[in-house]
Amino acid sequence: MGFRTKQIHAGVTPDPLTGSILTPIYQTTTYVQDSVDEYLAKGFSYSRSGNPTVRALELKMTGLEDATDSICFGTGMAAVQAVMLAFLNAGDHAIISDVAYGGTYRLCTKILSRFGVEFTFVDGSNLDEVAAAVRDNTKLFLTETPANPTMKCTDIAGASKIARAAGAVHAVDNTFLTPYYQRPLELDADMSIYSTTKYMDGHNATVGGAVVCATQEQADEVRFIQGSTGSIMSPQVAWLTLQGCKTMSLRLDAQSANAMAIAEYLESHDKVEQVCYPGLKSFAQHELASTQASGYGAMLWFEVKGGLVAGKKLMDNIDVFSLAENLGSVESLITHPVTMTHAAVEEAERIRVGIIDGLVRVSVGLEDAEDLIEALDKALELV
Ligand SMILES: *Cc1c(COP(=O)(O)O)cnc(C)c1O
Repeated sequence: MGFRTKQIHAGVTPDPLTGSILTPIYQTTTYVQDSVDEYLAKGFSYSRSGNPTVRALELKMTGLEDATDSICFGTGMAAVQAVMLAFLNAGDHAIISDVAYGGTYRLCTKILSRFGVEFTFVDGSNLDEVAAAVRDNTKLFLTETPANPTMKCTDIAGASKIARAAGAVHAVDNTFLTPYYQRPLELDADMSIYSTTKYMDGHNATVGGAVVCATQEQADEVRFIQGSTGSIMSPQVAWLTLQGCKTMSLRLDAQSANAMAIAEYLESHDKVEQVCYPGLKSFAQHELASTQASGYGAMLWFEVKGGLVAGKKLMDNIDVFSLAENLGSVESLITHPVTMTHAAVEEAERIRVGIIDGLVRVSVGLEDAEDLIEALDKALELV
């Protein structure tokens, strides 16, 4: 089946009791068992261990990636955390993309490091550097591609090969492109991680996360961590995300087309120092971005001439775009990573990985491209 058919039909069936076409919100804590012998015969016991609405979303995520099983979480960070807790013990080592979501970096350096886990942050665009970071105790690779916010890409198949040879699990944070544009499991990764908050919800309504697994064994390990730590998705969130998923490819195609138009406009503007969008020929890894994914997504960044001061002025004066931290929604959002999303990353580390002071991140929404370009044009006039 094609992606559009799967995003509508995978994982859901009409409610057996009423025929309701939408999976109901099963707002319940516990499930009555028919008898002791038939304990768990219907699959559910207590909502920390499983909920039918959440399960429908898990089955949809599994279907979208032709995976084996998926586990949904209360947030994207809970999903990242569960993967780390499932595959890392004290004394183990993990290799992480040097540009990664700020929360992932914080989880590694401020929390898991306290429990004796070691991390090396590598330039994922350089597979030699990735291979050189492998140690005897390396158990996990976590790559993010394209990475937030620099858009740096990692060759997923290449990194998976290195991970496999090292006997490590390779998880890919695929939040930016979604399974519609990029399918890590087909590129030999063990699992995909999503913040469903972003393109799967798509409407700025919920926070949630998911881990999509290639094997049942790995899925069981991740689910065990979830059941033990309680990092579940609520049925209300699962229900909204189920609806959001149905239009994901349509939104992504339209938002990506808007992003391309904006990137081309910005690239020709004399007040713009540089524009970074994987769809542009000038993007350093345009070739990789074009081969391992079927679309470029709707995230880009640019630097206004005049650095931080000019960037701030632009963001304070722009219409239509909202100054906000989220991404992936139908509303266009504009963010200054240095003071907002990546404020927790030390200055030296930020500069090392390319999160420069004047970097303005844009999550391009579903508005008319002409209106978005006009808003940028007016704001750039003022800087
Ligand atoms: C937002 C995001 C996360 C964290 O997800 P939350 O739902 O905010 O916890 C992880 N990775 C990437 C790439 C993200 O954009």
